[in-house]
Amino acid sequence: MTQQVNNSLWSLSRSSQFETNILSDDQKVDVAIIGGGFTGSSAALRLAEAGTDVAVVEAEYCGFGGSGRNVGLTNAGLWINPEDVEKAIGKRHGAALNQFLSRAPDLVHDLIDEHEIECDALRNGTLHLAHDEKGLKALEEKAWQINARGGSVMLLDKAATFKLTAAENYLGAIHDMRAGTIQPLEYCHGLMKAAKKAGAKVFTSSPVLSLRFKRGQWHLKTPKGFIRAQRVLLATNAYLEHIYPIIRSSFTPMYYSQMATDPLSDERLAHFLPGKNGTWDTRLVMRSFRTDAAGRLIIGTIGNIYHENAPLLTSWADKIIKETFPEVGPVNWTYKWSGRIACSEKYVPNIHDLGRGLYSISGFSGRGIAPGTALGRIMADYLLGRVVSRDLPLPLSTVNSVPLNKLRELFFEGGSQLSKIYDRLV
Ligand SMILES: Cc1cc2nc3c(=O)[nH]c(=O)nc-3n(C[C@H](O)[C@H](O)[C@H](O)COP(=O)(O)OP(=O)(O)OC[C@H]3O[C@@H](n4cnc5c(N)ncnc54)[C@H](O)[C@@H]3O)c2cc1C
Repeated sequence: MTQQVNNSLWSLSRSSQFETNILSDDQKVDVAIIGGGFTGSSAALRLAEAGTDVAVVEAEYCGFGGSGRNVGLTNAGLWINPEDVEKAIGKRHGAALNQFLSRAPDLVHDLIDEHEIECDALRNGTLHLAHDEKGLKALEEKAWQINARGGSVMLLDKAATFKLTAAENYLGAIHDMRAGTIQPLEYCHGLMKAAKKAGAKVFTSSPVLSLRFKRGQWHLKTPKGFIRAQRVLLATNAYLEHIYPIIRSSFTPMYYSQMATDPLSDERLAHFLPGKNGTWDTRLVMRSFRTDAAGRLIIGTIGNIYHENAPLLTSWADKIIKETFPEVGPVNWTYKWSGRIACSEKYVPNIHDLGRGLYSISGFSGRGIAPGTALGRIMADYLLGRVVSRDLPLPLSTVNSVPLNKLRELFFEGGSQLSKIYDRLV
């Protein structure tokens, strides 16, 4: 897996800068966190606030991975339905995880308020759109399952869906008021700035090249420095490089691409998500639509962008906008980027206990803003001794490889490209 440059809209349009240093000396800390995304920054914040000596070591810059490339929907729960979560990890843990992740967007938006993070947060609910009758039935079932567990999502009919989206051809939607949208990279930086302010050491452009346990502690080696730590949290998700390749076998990489326009006029925006909700749909190769605070139109779908000008994706997106939002008119795609998702075997994240104080959280399967924030925080509580393993919402596990992983990866990417070709033909 090669790292891809993060040329996302979020990266190119961010207003704040975040000053950090390269690790260039020897450090000794209680806890070292590898990876500066939502999971690492949330854990670092919690640990630093409790007075722990903690260092974050990031290969590139904070938010280089999924945290700076995603759609920015602060959704509750996971991609799969609550019942499937319970089937995947058992009733007790499944029920606990469903409850825990149902509240996770509250944590995100509370942290944004508490630390005054400027990330264009809008908590007006997200919309899961039904693209056909089967999708509508699936959403009815999903809404029932969520509400039976104490959630309160609403099912919208076709007219109510159109009122919020101005999108043709959608038959209904789940409106989930627990969620909203953010500028994800600004949120990630805001969390990490808060962690730094609370005392965490943050090192960027410092890839950990080796991780060894010697004489009772962990030794992390970067190109110019060294860290010794009692405990280590790997918060690298789909962007893991150099170390512990075994963890990669526990998820399948899947790419998701997005494109964004320059800001559109209010008149044109009246025909593209007038309710300003973040949305995605029930297609197997799903589509997402949202706007940002500046009024840019953003479209996304599964699959990788192979070339800078992404000809297949561009013509696909033009067609989808013309069909779905005909009143918007032709647009130019100024921003194009891809991100890597870590799909675990059953689409539920893993907390791996790798022994001797080494832990890893990965496999968010495309739902990591609220889950990464919440699991990073509760793992910090575990390291602080505030919770014990049976109180974690996920069981601590050893690494299990996804069967036929390479084939699954080819299936994800091949399927998404074929579906774009099909969409252009019909
Ligand atoms: C395109 C896309 C759209 C998505 N949309 C949504 C969405 O709308 N809502 C949602 O909830 N979730 C979404 N997700 C999922 C979410 O973005 C991720 O689950 C989340 O960002 C994972 O955060 P993380 O902190 O665990 O990992 P990451 O943000 O990926 O961070 C891992 C970091 O580890 C660093 N790293 C790796 N190896 C090393 C090393 N050896 N040394 C030092 N550092 C290292 C990497 O450079 C990287 O910065 C999306 C993901 C993608 C890719």
